[in-house]
Amino acid sequence: MLTSQMIKDAARRAGADACGIAPISRMATAPDEMNPKFLFPRAKSMIGFVFRIPRGVQRGIEEGTQFFQYPSMAYGGINEIFAPAVLYSVGKIIEDEGYEAFVYRNTGARGVVSDMDGSQGSTLSPEEEIEVHENAKTSTAHHRSVQFTRATREDNVPPDLQFSFRLAAVACGLGEMGYSKMLLTPEFGPLQRVAFIFTDAELEYDEMYHGEPLCKKCMKCVRECPGHCIPDAKTGKTVKVNIAGKECEWGDIDMWRCYAFYTHAGRYYNPFVPKEVWDANENGSLDLMEKEGVEANEQEIMKVYTSLQKYFPSWVGYNMAKCGGCIRACVSRLERGDGCMAGRFEEPLRTRTKPWKLDR
Ligand code: SF4
Ligand code: SF4
Repeated sequence: MLTSQMIKDAARRAGADACGIAPISRMATAPDEMNPKFLFPRAKSMIGFVFRIPRGVQRGIEEGTQFFQYPSMAYGGINEIFAPAVLYSVGKIIEDEGYEAFVYRNTGARGVVSDMDGSQGSTLSPEEEIEVHENAKTSTAHHRSVQFTRATREDNVPPDLQFSFRLAAVACGLGEMGYSKMLLTPEFGPLQRVAFIFTDAELEYDEMYHGEPLCKKCMKCVRECPGHCIPDAKTGKTVKVNIAGKECEWGDIDMWRCYAFYTHAGRYYNPFVPKEVWDANENGSLDLMEKEGVEANEQEIMKVYTSLQKYFPSWVGYNMAKCGGCIRACVSRLERGDGCMAGRFEEPLRTRTKPWKLDR
């Protein structure tokens, strides 16, 4: 007989760092187009897997010496290699017991709703739009949402169904939402990615996390964001979501603005783009990053990507994250005192009093 313990043991053996299991009904408050219960009608259980991001992949960014390991190992490596292998392995155990394992890797696929701003229909991501323009004659356009998708039958939602990984992880008892909108877990703070299996097997379920609040509401993530993308709690600009009775709240982060800054980081935090390029700001293409009050939208971000992409291209199919500001800020806080990461490492991530900043 298939049990939760069998699944958790298999997950650990295969290389997951944590595993939590919830009834799929905990996602009942999600909008239909993002509710995993529509994935398949008999789905009863949702199994969440945590894959740690080694703290060491942030070391190069923290020191200002090496920026490639974070996007390649933490995004590319986990999403494309480590997590799918675990889903495959655990899925086989579930199916050997006669139940279905709907494996759901960390995605890259697109749904009817934009994963950037929740809007319906066509919103191109910058790197995809560049690709569309450059390969218009040879490639099919990719979109942040799939604009022409339609429900395949009555009372169904349009494919591909995407859901909030972070909130699903909260539902599985794996952690809580941080003010920065990152998932925080008691084991790894903000340093993980997650993936899921949905199954028709009924299992024993984990409670949602109810220990000491994982987020310290310290606003370090707000202060250390190079793009000022996360509004301070004092502004009252937060998002609140209730997951099966658990209140989740985070700063209403400007996702498009983050898209520009986490990849290109701005004048003071991107050592790959010469000062002269920022100074010249040719055709106003860097207005979003250089001037105040410029709205972050696809058009502005396209300009930024088109002019800066060549200084540090996407070599692993993922944007070359250079900021890591909110993650590093959060780790630095959670390693101290009453933070959930206190005592995990002999030495803290941050050994200087302040993060580096280019003098220009
Ligand atoms: S930096 Fe502070 S406020 Fe931000 S998510 Fe981490 S603990 Fe919460
Ligand atoms: S990833 Fe970077 S740009 Fe985005 S919110 Fe975090 S610190 Fe700001």
